Amino acid sequence: MQTLRVYLEPDEMPTHWYNVVSDLKNPPSPPLGPDGNPVPPEKMLAIFPMPLLEQEMSAERWIAIPEEVRQIYALWRPSPLCRALRLEEALGTPAKIFYKYEGVSPAGSHKPNSAVPQAYFNKVAGTKRLTTETGAGQWGSSIAFAGQMFGLPVRVYMVKVSYEQKPFRRSMMQTWGAEVFASPTNLTQAGRDALAKDPNSEGSLGIAISEAVEEAASQAGTCYTLGSVLNHVLLHQTVIGLEAKKQFEKIGLYPDSIFGPCGGGSSFGGIAFPFLADKAAGDKRAENLDCVAVEPSSCPTLTKGAYAYDFGDASGYTPLMKMYTLGHDFMPPGIHAGGLRYHGDSPLVSQLLHEKLIRAAAVPQVATFEAGVQFARSEGIIPAPESCHGIRAAIDEALRCKKTGEAKVILVNLTGHGHFDMASYDKYLAGKLEDYDYPSAAIADSLKHLPKVAA
Ligand SMILES: *Cc1c(COP(=O)(O)O)cnc(C)c1O
Repeated sequence: MQTLRVYLEPDEMPTHWYNVVSDLKNPPSPPLGPDGNPVPPEKMLAIFPMPLLEQEMSAERWIAIPEEVRQIYALWRPSPLCRALRLEEALGTPAKIFYKYEGVSPAGSHKPNSAVPQAYFNKVAGTKRLTTETGAGQWGSSIAFAGQMFGLPVRVYMVKVSYEQKPFRRSMMQTWGAEVFASPTNLTQAGRDALAKDPNSEGSLGIAISEAVEEAASQAGTCYTLGSVLNHVLLHQTVIGLEAKKQFEKIGLYPDSIFGPCGGGSSFGGIAFPFLADKAAGDKRAENLDCVAVEPSSCPTLTKGAYAYDFGDASGYTPLMKMYTLGHDFMPPGIHAGGLRYHGDSPLVSQLLHEKLIRAAAVPQVATFEAGVQFARSEGIIPAPESCHGIRAAIDEALRCKKTGEAKVILVNLTGHGHFDMASYDKYLAGKLEDYDYPSAAIADSLKHLPKVAA
């Protein structure tokens, strides 16, 4: 029988996360305050606990994964590395396609890889309650689960339109013991202001962020959590790539290319950075390694955005970060991969792209679902709409290999399953899904509103 899954023993789980900052030629650009000066760490302490702030600013190469975190990781980690043999056969490609499957976590995606350590470090720092915002509910459910593991109460501000349209993610959060509010609420000034402007407001991620941050900043003992973008989130996610490296070692292979979806960049950084460490160390196997962050062509942050300082949120509440951005007031079309509708991107992923250590590609929506259905029909797993972006690009690479006869090794990050996204699959199957043109005029417009700072 052909081996299709490469497993690791529980004690082969990584003991440390890898910090890519240690291998960067140029130091990362610091977050800036509204005055254009770096934000003083004390200010961030109002919403983040010290251990996570230290990780956020660290240049240390290896950061220990606490035993308590590994113990929770062990509920589903190490995650399997699988060979997509049936997909290869369906495509008729000489390429070998592997996927790292993160849908085995309790919440069904990679997000608990960071939710668990965020809850843990908050707990040990004495935080009494966590707040966060969530759109479609992937992050909210991950932090609800993680908070429950460490006995930390969690409050989730969920964008009202999702709260009403995606009731099952809300049920998951409540099952794990979190309080979930439809944002805008009248619990915060930001929420009250939004409701005063429009009593029937359906909410937005920007408003929900403002509510969650405001509560954390104004209440001693309450901290805010974020599911992507920030350096410490990418750090935690490197457990994906570190495991994958060990798994490839077991079968004596090494990837030629790595594809993953990219919204805020955490899962992409998580799978790619540990392999890029080999490249930085001069490892011959990684010399021509091609790491590709895949985004929707309707929200083409990395491929069409500007590399500039911008706000992290729509309302201009957060510090300025140097990143690829479409402008903080860019309104992405309502595509079905909710996790990829972000105007900005991780500053670390952005820097690596700017320094040409990784590549980016954009793919249209209908083609991603086509890839997701082909994957489901050959491999069985129904991928999350976000994950379908990486799969699309991996399939395209496998088809290119078919033409050239190259037996390349392709790795794709299967960041989650799509069991809560079947309404989107329904639309695709009914032929009702649309591609949205790359909104160049809208991007040009919102790029005019980038904050002015000396770069
Ligand atoms: C949130 C999410 C993403 C995108 O977030 P990143 O931080 O870019 O990884 C991708 N896939 C799934 C399944 C998600 O839930």
